[in-house]
Amino acid sequence: MRRYLGISVVLLGLLFLLPLITVTTHVVLRETGVGTKREVKLVEPEIELLPQGETDGSYTIRVLLGDEVKTMTMGEYLQGVVRAEMPASFEQQALCAQAVAARTYTMYKMSSGGNHGNTADICGDHTCCQAYLDKETAMSNWGDNAQAYEAKVENAVALTDGQTILYGGQPILAVFHSSSARTTKRAGEVWTNDLPYLQSVESPEGEGVPNYYSRAEFTFAEFKKMFLQAYPEADLSGPVSGWMKAWVIGDDRNVESVTVGGISVRGTKLRTIFSLRSSTFEAEVADGKIVFFVTGYGHGVGMSQYGAQQMAKDGKDWKEIITHYYTGVTVAVHTPERFS
Ligand SMILES: [Zn+2]
Repeated sequence: MRRYLGISVVLLGLLFLLPLITVTTHVVLRETGVGTKREVKLVEPEIELLPQGETDGSYTIRVLLGDEVKTMTMGEYLQGVVRAEMPASFEQQALCAQAVAARTYTMYKMSSGGNHGNTADICGDHTCCQAYLDKETAMSNWGDNAQAYEAKVENAVALTDGQTILYGGQPILAVFHSSSARTTKRAGEVWTNDLPYLQSVESPEGEGVPNYYSRAEFTFAEFKKMFLQAYPEADLSGPVSGWMKAWVIGDDRNVESVTVGGISVRGTKLRTIFSLRSSTFEAEVADGKIVFFVTGYGHGVGMSQYGAQQMAKDGKDWKEIITHYYTGVTVAVHTPERFS
């Protein structure tokens, strides 16, 4: 396990790149023949709220929220993560899979020392650990669906009480992302090392995902300025058509590397420089601009949240979702070492 710990340092800033997704509670229908728009509210039916699970309720963890360290049960903490990390409008089984991934990630952090020394086990900053949203804030955001959504979130944690993703008996680095470009990415394609359980697998989401295809365009001057900021030694003096070449594309269409101005750069680095939604992209020169065409959203490793949602819609349960996205794992009830 130790040899895998090094990767976590590199991963810290990259893990949960998806910002909070605004939950859409309205759909717009067009009434055919009339040409007017009508707003239809999707109000979820009432759901029975389950009590907190015994295992997750049996111990507390310390969560750094802003400047304050709050002590709460694992169950209460995970509810806050699910509220923040996945739209509560998603299927119950997708939310359950999210709860299991979040629990596992938390266990991994606790067993590897985490990012906060003796101060806290984990924090609520998604650029560091995992996003966290308290019940009051989430419910005021959810409006008419607040009761039903909160019940789904709390039930996602309760229905998967203690369930943790294990490889070699240890909690895995259970990273996840918003949407894949039909396949997920190997950890080594995006970060430094591969992990046996973070392989490339097929993912069923597609055009139905909001902004699944996106584009980002830059004038030649903008491109040059942004790239030279990161790589001042690059030579972008020649014709624009020759600025990007020697594209290395993976089987999953991920950009592994491109040579820009004579420097070989990883696709993930270009993603960062140009704020692209993923490292699955193509680029072309058109109308005096360099245009990136991007598929999916997020780092692409581990569970795809929109893929989980599609699998749940297709009748798969949370365990089938988890074992699909994390290769060769088992799932079992687990508690952190210091409590077991
Ligand atoms: Zn943190």
